Amino acid sequence: MLKTIAGFDRIGEENAFAVLARATQLASEGRDIINLGIGQPDFQTPGHIVEAAVKALRDGHHGYTPATGILPLREAVSADLHKRIGVDTNPDNIVIVPGGKVTMFMAILMFGEPGAEILYPDPGFPIYRSMIEFTGATPIPVPIREENDFAFSAEETLSLLTDKTRLLILNSPANPTGGVTPRAEIEKLVKGLEAFPDLAIMSDEIYAQMTYDGMEHVSLLGFEEIRDRLILLDGWSKTYAMTGWRMGYSLWPDQLIDKARKLAVNAWSCVNAPAQFAGLAALTGPQDEARAMVAEFDKRRKVVVDGLNALPNISCRTPLGAFYAFPNIKATGWKAKKLASALLEDAGVAVIGGPDFGILGEGYIRLSYANSTENIQRALKRMEDFLTQNS
Ligand code: PLP
Repeated sequence: MLKTIAGFDRIGEENAFAVLARATQLASEGRDIINLGIGQPDFQTPGHIVEAAVKALRDGHHGYTPATGILPLREAVSADLHKRIGVDTNPDNIVIVPGGKVTMFMAILMFGEPGAEILYPDPGFPIYRSMIEFTGATPIPVPIREENDFAFSAEETLSLLTDKTRLLILNSPANPTGGVTPRAEIEKLVKGLEAFPDLAIMSDEIYAQMTYDGMEHVSLLGFEEIRDRLILLDGWSKTYAMTGWRMGYSLWPDQLIDKARKLAVNAWSCVNAPAQFAGLAALTGPQDEARAMVAEFDKRRKVVVDGLNALPNISCRTPLGAFYAFPNIKATGWKAKKLASALLEDAGVAVIGGPDFGILGEGYIRLSYANSTENIQRALKRMEDFLTQNS
């Protein structure tokens, strides 16, 4: 019997992948499945980005790159942060990682150990809690509430900090709720964090460029007071429809960058070279396709929210970011995971049960509107028929 470390008894998963596998299996058996489960754009990566990768391969970029990524790419990330957030950053503090997820893996490994507390949003991206559990640290959920439009509350977050808290994880715009935290709340939080100078902060801003109705994305990077302990997580997956390329980046403060670099050297040596050239083309090339995707998501968002609110016993707040709706299903009488499973098996609509995102996810399901308007409308009709027959 092989004995692995105790962390593997606690590590979790991302159920969206299990739902995707089941949906794919049902589709292969001939069922007509509409997938509103997985969180990935339904668009192709823009052509000029693909071409840059092909050219990199033809030009002979087949070898290792520096572990933290090629310098022109890190310079382009730095220039992009300057353009979007108005802050100067040093390309030497940037690490190119194989997908945004890897940054959370690195940050949680750096701070998680038995006795340490790590705060994370609940409901939130499931890997935060899974990784915290893996390290043996104590996961402390920060409630993300519907009545607060799924923004995080500075007061509630600050009230959970103790002298054991080593890392605070923030995410806005948020998965799975689509919530966006307004500037005033973030300012309040940053002010309160002054009392905790030894606390690291990881801000997951992977949906930074997907906000709607004029809602601004407020980056934690904009606050000088915390910049010396801020880890910024971002990447190409969502903005440029590049989920399968596995391209992300993180910005690390001076006191952590060498540790981040060493983790990269130990774990993956470097992200594959042609993908890095694709990432460079994404940042330095035309942005019109990326913008058009957001405009399209915005249109679908309205279709989803109006459609959900017209369903019996379902109510849905208007999400202001990302590409998810997180309707309240409590009045249907269904448990969220049971409903998600029944919708897939009986109605052919893949969605994710809220509890897959945390304790406070009970009573909600997550729909990704990264699917065509036509499919979204068909899915809503199927949900209506199902709920009418099964409530
Ligand atoms: N952070 C959040 C909040 C996400 O929703 C996701 C992906 O769904 C990620 C990070 C990871 O992105 P990537 O595919 O680049 O690893």
